[in-house]
Amino acid sequence: MTDEVRRQVLEAYRDIDAAIALALPRCDASGRCCRFEEYGHRLYISHFEAEILLESAPAYEGPIGAKGCPFQKDDLCTAREPRPLGCRIYFCDPTHQDLGNALTEAALHRLKQIADEQGLDWRYGPLHHFLNHPEDASAVPELPEVGR
Ligand code: SF4
Repeated sequence: MTDEVRRQVLEAYRDIDAAIALALPRCDASGRCCRFEEYGHRLYISHFEAEILLESAPAYEGPIGAKGCPFQKDDLCTAREPRPLGCRIYFCDPTHQDLGNALTEAALHRLKQIADEQGLDWRYGPLHHFLNHPEDASAVPELPEVGR
């Protein structure tokens, strides 16, 4: 990831954090949102987020399944600083769902735009995919089409 891409992705993180700080959704600190199977959802991330997460998240033992996040310990996130957008946006507060969905859509659009503008490949998948295949996390330039 180039410095410029990192700057833009981290800027997107900061903007999301600011929007969440304004909205103040309720968090009961139950930790259930990171236990995906128990909660009945799945965390999808882009390769940009995966690369940033894997650079400084604690070590983990694979293979990782879809059940939950290996960075959750004692109901707390041990990868808080580099956590992906979904972790920043999602709250189980029922009054936050519409705003959460809108923020997710806008953030994804922004990350895709970064990939497009920088001519980078775009990969998006469940967290456990990138944890099991960290080589997929690095952003690679799109191959030029042949015959044009
Ligand atoms: S990175 Fe942190 S906040 Fe995100 S799912 Fe894992 S433990 Fe939860």
